[in-house]
Amino acid sequence: MKAPDFDYHRAETLEAALALMAEEDAFALAGGQSLMPMMNLRLTAPEALVDLNAVDGLAGVRIEDQRLTIGAMTRYAALEASGEVAEHAPLVSTALPYIAHPAIRNRGTIGGSCALADPAAEMPALLLALGAEVHLQNVKGARSVAADEFFLGLYETAREDDELVVAIQLPVASKRQRIGFHEITRRHGDYAMAGCAIVATEDLSEVRIAFFAVSDRAVRARAAEAALAGTSGGKAELENAVAALSEIDFAGDMNASTHTKRHLAGVALRRAWAEVMA
Ligand SMILES: Cc1cc2nc3c(=O)[nH]c(=O)nc-3n(C[C@H](O)[C@H](O)[C@H](O)COP(=O)(O)OP(=O)(O)OC[C@H]3O[C@@H](n4cnc5c(N)ncnc54)[C@H](O)[C@@H]3O)c2cc1C
Repeated sequence: MKAPDFDYHRAETLEAALALMAEEDAFALAGGQSLMPMMNLRLTAPEALVDLNAVDGLAGVRIEDQRLTIGAMTRYAALEASGEVAEHAPLVSTALPYIAHPAIRNRGTIGGSCALADPAAEMPALLLALGAEVHLQNVKGARSVAADEFFLGLYETAREDDELVVAIQLPVASKRQRIGFHEITRRHGDYAMAGCAIVATEDLSEVRIAFFAVSDRAVRARAAEAALAGTSGGKAELENAVAALSEIDFAGDMNASTHTKRHLAGVALRRAWAEVMA
């Protein structure tokens, strides 16, 4: 199938892009790796596209005030190649090779993944585990929203229709940060059937656990975090955390039933936790 007719605008500045987003019932076009297939399948039919690919200053990684700022148009491939990301956000570097395939990572952007809020995507869960902030802008001004408050439901976020995601900010990881990541897929590069991302302090006094592909959105597992934080992280505590996953509103999809998702989340947590403790 082909996409329905739409107007196309190639913005060259952020101001021009924001003005177009305000004027029209427009969607931003970033890497196009999700938007174009969705349009071709007629799952979505925006009146206009505002292409962000020529906008200066929306891509790149920089350190500011102990925060890693990643421009919305930074492609996954650029994140994968970034020494700053490897050093200051090792969880992101660890997870990137699991996001789709190299051809898709060459075009797909962090801002696009964030704005789309696919429940099976890795990036929203990474942002929850890392305590990220999403920076948004429209013609009226700028604001930032904690990742915890950004992902609201199935393809639903706190972003207003005329707002662009302009950047993502992550706290710089301490040298002793512990991380764990595990996803269960049928084939490497496929969307996950269930996945888990964990960030913990060296002494396990703080633990953040997020899941993807198990519910209608990326979710924090706060009861599981509480079961592990401040403990030695042994087998008994881990099993308490697995039991505490009943807090999650599990949702089946074409890959697995709700019951299977619940089971796979426990498997992913055990495997990701083994990395945390390694
Ligand atoms: C075969 C295949 C396999 C894939 N596998 C995976 C996978 O395993 N894991 C995974 O996470 N993803 C996967 N993807 C999706 C891929 O990672 C996408 O690139 C990503 O989800 C969206 O990024 P994008 O830059 O391509 O966004 P686009 O497709 O351009 O846009 C997606 C949506 O976000 C909006 N948008 C984009 N940028 C902004 C912005 N800055 N501000 C506001 N709104 C914006 C668009 O209007 C659109 O609604 C796969 C895609 C394909 C085709």
